[in-house]
Amino acid sequence: MDRFLKKKKEPTTEVASTSAVSSSENTDSMTSSEEIPSTPQVEKKRKKHYKQKFRSEWIRIYPWLEEKKQQSFCKACSRFIAGGFKHLGRHASSQTHEKKTS
Ligand SMILES: [Zn+2]
Repeated sequence: MDRFLKKKKEPTTEVASTSAVSSSENTDSMTSSEEIPSTPQVEKKRKKHYKQKFRSEWIRIYPWLEEKKQQSFCKACSRFIAGGFKHLGRHASSQTHEKKTS
């Protein structure tokens, strides 16, 4: 058991040196990831999906709708509606909204 512990202690110094190597590898991969166009592309795609820009034509469909900070805002409920047109429809048929508009 004692031997085992001693043996285990030795590689600790080795681990320390390898961690230093891996850290330098990390910085290397960081700089290389900047060059790879696939990384920002994924971010762009995600952003596009996440942020739905407000469309003024939605107001014609939903009179309670308002644009605030380029987001959909329900005047009746005085709350933002995250998401796109589908979410507006869902909000329109929601009980909380129907109560406010009726
Ligand atoms: Zn509402």
